[in-house]
This record gives sequence, structure tokens and C-alpha cells, in this order.
Amino acid sequence: MVHWSLKRHNSWVQLAGHEGNFKPSERGQILKKFSQVENSCLEALMQDVLRPYVPTYYGVVEKEQEKYIRMEDLLQGLERPSIMDCKIGVRTYLEEELAKALQKPTPRKDMYQKMVKVDPEAPTAEERAQQAITKPRYMQWRESISSTATMGFRIEGITMEGGTVQRDFKQIRTKEQIMETFLSFTRRRKDILAAYQSRLESMKVALQESAFFKTHEVIGSSLLFVHDTKGHANVWMIDFGKTLAAPSHMSLRHDVPWQVGNHEDGYLLGLGNLAETIKSTIHQ
Ligand code: ATP
Ligand code: MG
Ligand code: MG
Repeated sequence: MVHWSLKRHNSWVQLAGHEGNFKPSERGQILKKFSQVENSCLEALMQDVLRPYVPTYYGVVEKEQEKYIRMEDLLQGLERPSIMDCKIGVRTYLEEELAKALQKPTPRKDMYQKMVKVDPEAPTAEERAQQAITKPRYMQWRESISSTATMGFRIEGITMEGGTVQRDFKQIRTKEQIMETFLSFTRRRKDILAAYQSRLESMKVALQESAFFKTHEVIGSSLLFVHDTKGHANVWMIDFGKTLAAPSHMSLRHDVPWQVGNHEDGYLLGLGNLAETIKSTIHQ
């Protein structure tokens, strides 16, 4: 279960993730609750061509008997930043999570409730009779209501100029809706949209060269868009808690559809669609 929260310690704002997963640190740094998977990724990324696109990693620290990953605060130096968290990829669960859910497809009443809350029409007649759905069904339905399955990314949350966090994007699917969202997020500033687009273009080049990227299935990771009223604008790759090394014989393409077993994440499909959508807002 994801809890949305807004936390402020100086400039710190959190758009996603469990509350309590983050702690402020020294100036310019933050602490994220330790995960072995994410820690290994950040360590490897510091030696990869993707280094300029991820928060700088400063190692592991222990505070009050809890381990944390220390990394760069990407909001450092920005004045009243506007932030958007975009989750990349055509699915947001691991193949092993789906396999596990398929092994025990117990009907779940809680997931049924979550589904009808978003779309009362979504359950089938049989599911309605049971007032329950299975977890794999819920997982796949969830990807289909947002732009994840079709576009390879979805907007998770936005905050603008120190305002409250908006998280009502679960059902945003079309290119037009996403263009509208980017226009309002940037207050129609073409210079900021152009900066975002060129950063995504150079990120794409680095991704195609990256040894890390070829060998990792990147799931549930986000692009964090940040800009401020002075016109500073940047995009960063964050959240590697579900980024796993692919089986050793596999070299992933990231631009082909996912089929169970191929470990493809659609990351480049998402990045391409995102860059293309931003480009359209600039030229409209
Ligand atoms: P989830 O898996 O539910 O998305 P999580 O606990 O793995 O959450 P992240 O997604 O890594 O957490 O981060 C949550 C939010 O915290 C991001 O949306 C962003 O707003 C903020 N954040 C994360 N890392 C940084 C960073 N290095 N600098 C600034 N803000 C960050
Ligand atoms: Mg995240
Ligand atoms: Mg995460």
C-alpha cells in the first residue's frame, strides 16, 4: 500500500512512497530506508554512463538502529520547486510478483473494493457476485486504467510551488490529458518544457550506451521532473527498489512489448512517448 505524503524539512518534499521511508540528512542530502536491491543499483550506477542522471550516492548510514541509503537531495538549491513523479515502464510489478500472485489466486474482497471505488463498472458479473477479485487480476487491471500499459509511463504525483500534493492521476490515459497536465505543471513555460525535452533526449542516448541498463529489468522506477520559478529544470532517474539484474544470459532491449518470461519493462517505450508528448506541447 502506497501512502502519499507531503514532508517538508527545509526544501524536502516527498511525492510517493511510504511515510517514514525518508529522513532529512546533512544539507544537500537525504536518507532513504535501506534496501539491498536499491543500494546495489546505486553503487553500480555510480560507475555507469547513467551517473549524471541519478542522484549521487554517498553510501550507507545507520541511525537509531535503522540502515539508510544516503543520496543527493535533488531539490537542493531550488526555490519553491514544482515536482512531478512519473513512473516509467509498461508494468509496475515484477514477473516474480505476478508468478507469486498466480500461484495463490485467492479472491480478495479488499482489492474488489479498491477496484469499484475507481470504476464501479470494472468487475465482471462473476466478480460482482463474489464481491472479490484475484490479485493478478487487480494488478493487470490497475495498469490498464492509467497510461502505464498503453504509453509505458504514468503520472504518480505533482506538487507545484510549495502547494499541496496532487495525486489524482490514476485514470489519466490519453496523450491529450498528459499534455494538459504538463502545460499546467509548467504554467505553459516553453523554456522549461524545452529543457525537459532535451534532458530526456540526452538521457535516451546514455541509456542506449549503458551496461547497467542492458542487464537490468527496471520496474517501478520514476523520472522526477523538477523546476522552479527561476527556470531551473531537470529530470532524474530515481527509485531502484525493484530494479533487478536480468537472468545472466539476457540482454534487455526495453523497447519491445512485455511477454511473461521476457523480462522486458518497456522503459524506452515510456521514455520515447513521454519525450514525444512533451515535444507536442511545445509545438502546439
Ligand atoms: P514507491 O516505491 O512507493 O514509489 P519509495 O519509498 O521507493 O516509493 P521513491 O519513489 O524513491 O520512494 O521516492 C518517493 C518520493 O520522494 C519521490 O516521488 C520524490 O518526490 C521524493 N524523492 C525521492 N528521492 C529523492 C531525491 N534524491 N531527491 C529529492 N526528492 C526525492
Ligand atoms: Mg517511487
Ligand atoms: Mg520504490
